[in-house]
Amino acid sequence: MTSSPVALSMPTVPRRRRSPEDVAAAAPVEGQKKVLLAAPRGYCAGVDRAVIAVEKALEHYGPPVYVRKQIVHNRHVVETLEERGAIFVEETDEVPEGALVVFSAHGVSPAVVRSAEDRGLRTIDATCPLVTKVHREAVRFAKGDYEILLIGHEGHEEVEGTYGEAPEHTQIVNSPEEADTIQVKDPDRLIWLSQTTLSVDETMETVRRLRERFPNLQDPPSDDICYATSNRQAAIKKIAPQADLVIVVGSANSSNSVRLVEVALEYGARAAYRVDFANEVDESWFEGVTTVGVTSGASVPEVLVQDVLRLASEYGYGTVEEVVTAEEDILFSLPKELRATLKEAGDASRGLGGRGQRPQS
Ligand code: SF4
Repeated sequence: MTSSPVALSMPTVPRRRRSPEDVAAAAPVEGQKKVLLAAPRGYCAGVDRAVIAVEKALEHYGPPVYVRKQIVHNRHVVETLEERGAIFVEETDEVPEGALVVFSAHGVSPAVVRSAEDRGLRTIDATCPLVTKVHREAVRFAKGDYEILLIGHEGHEEVEGTYGEAPEHTQIVNSPEEADTIQVKDPDRLIWLSQTTLSVDETMETVRRLRERFPNLQDPPSDDICYATSNRQAAIKKIAPQADLVIVVGSANSSNSVRLVEVALEYGARAAYRVDFANEVDESWFEGVTTVGVTSGASVPEVLVQDVLRLASEYGYGTVEEVVTAEEDILFSLPKELRATLKEAGDASRGLGGRGQRPQS
């Protein structure tokens, strides 16, 4: 059996739009209208792997497949998987005993794993390997009796999971301002780690302010902000100074999508908005706009970006120039629990974590 990628068309919400002529008349545009399209954008390897894990679980075990939290932070992806038989729950105690549950790409704390075991649940762990890496760092430094300053947003699932690896050793630092006031036990045995989807610049500012107070603060062994987050921010930084308007496709609870809006504004975009779907674009945004920047968060299927480009084209922005700042070829193998099942079933895609491409390892 083969799975089809999550790529259904956008929901058609009837909406009366102002005509392109009406928008153009409201504020004349100087110069050639165009779109600068960020690359990389959209799906990262961890999201791709997690979505395929649920698709494959549905194919091989049949619905229902329970998923703890949104598998990735994107409304379209979640709704599409729901239509196929996935049931999204907040906690494992909502899953019937003995049923199959997938842990989302954002990772879980050891307490969640134990709770699933206690309920006799079958589990597939779709935590992104780059989140798992941060968990391992937390465990290792806690064992070495370090205090961990975890830079991230309290309440975000990923931060809850990482914090849960070593709660007695960890404090969360939400912002650069908090770096000025946080109290530590031993300033000579301190390390900072971070959420994978933060603003690179803001995180560095938080670290700078922490280090001002704690000069012996150690850096993580390797970058915790992942390649996908950094690359998407680098691409929009290049586009923003030329853009009158930036449209970021992504959901409100997607940290890296929300950061893209902030970064675009910080780097000079005159306006920047986030939308889940093209039908959320307000045509008034195009008034007086020559250049539109378009990008998407790491959990966004490309079909949603193409919908936005089609809409922009209707308003005169048919010229699309791709601004490429990096090439990405990272892929992850599917979760091990699933690989064993796929192997037994003779599913040839068992080793793949991307759309039919070879895995990195
Ligand atoms: S954004 Fe980064 S950490 Fe999150 S799933 Fe994608 S690759 Fe993994």
